[in-house]
Amino acid sequence: MKQTTEAAYAKINLCLDVTARRPDGYHEIDGVMQSVTLCDALTVTFAPSSRTEVALYAEGNPQMPADRRNLAVRAAERFLAAANMGGEVHIGLQKRIPMAAGLAGGSTDAAAVLRALNRLTGFPLTAGELGAVGLGLGADVPFCIAGGSRRTRGIGELLEPCPLLPPCHLVIARRGEGVSTPWAYARLDELYHSFAADAVRPSSGLPGLLEALGRQSLDGVCGRLYNVFEPVVEECLPDVALLRGGLLSGGALAARMSGSGPAVYGVFRTEAEASDSCRALRELGAEAYICCPQATEIPIHSYAVHN
Ligand code: ATP
Repeated sequence: MKQTTEAAYAKINLCLDVTARRPDGYHEIDGVMQSVTLCDALTVTFAPSSRTEVALYAEGNPQMPADRRNLAVRAAERFLAAANMGGEVHIGLQKRIPMAAGLAGGSTDAAAVLRALNRLTGFPLTAGELGAVGLGLGADVPFCIAGGSRRTRGIGELLEPCPLLPPCHLVIARRGEGVSTPWAYARLDELYHSFAADAVRPSSGLPGLLEALGRQSLDGVCGRLYNVFEPVVEECLPDVALLRGGLLSGGALAARMSGSGPAVYGVFRTEAEASDSCRALRELGAEAYICCPQATEIPIHSYAVHN
């Protein structure tokens, strides 16, 4: 029997644009994802066996499913099938990342299980193969396997490394329930005529963001954070705008929504400002956390995952 522990880092979107709607209904994205130190903690135990059995012991959030609906369980099953082996897997999962918030909480747990099992079983899968198993579980999983800062394209399977968000302190906050991600995509389809070639859309300013990341200019990056979902989600969730306003009035250089929300993040130069803002948001009834940018898990250059 072998055991390992793994941190599963949340992600924020420094830039999130939707660029196309494919004939199969999937949307293509282009942007930059960044891992942050806010994380779940996993302990994964593996014992070789002729049959496959996966058990999850979860704590931290009673709303999280602890059966096969949990992506961590499905990740273990898919890993063993892809590596063509049986085994008994026990996963201890301490949930800290707010759920259904746009922070890739389930995806990062799945990614951590894939990394852990690959290590425990002697690396039977290459990084590309691990990414392919991840992509079958969710579009954000390939990024979460690699972590750090990555330009992410396609439906999430084309990853290129980027310079990290320059050193800073982040406050991540959420209040209330979010919208469903399919609803958010449908709203964009309505606004931008299903991304037809002649549809007029705002520019994400991604080249400017990439250039500012390259110069490691925190001010430059903060002036160019973008999320195509933010205006449509704010239309029906006033809390998103309220928390962004709270972050900015607390001294954040910028504040944006992550993914399709409802979590928002603010970027601060000092820890003292971040912790004052965090306290103020909690007084408004928000769940709020302080964290920092997190470096990569896998120092690979680029990879494309194919199903
Ligand atoms: P993304 O940013 O990738 O769209 P999210 O952060 O918005 O994801 P999650 O935290 O992954 O959302 O939760 C979405 C749903 O997935 C939850 O409502 C929950 O029922 C289910 N789920 C399955 N496994 C997990 C897990 N390990 N952690 C959290 N949620 C999980």
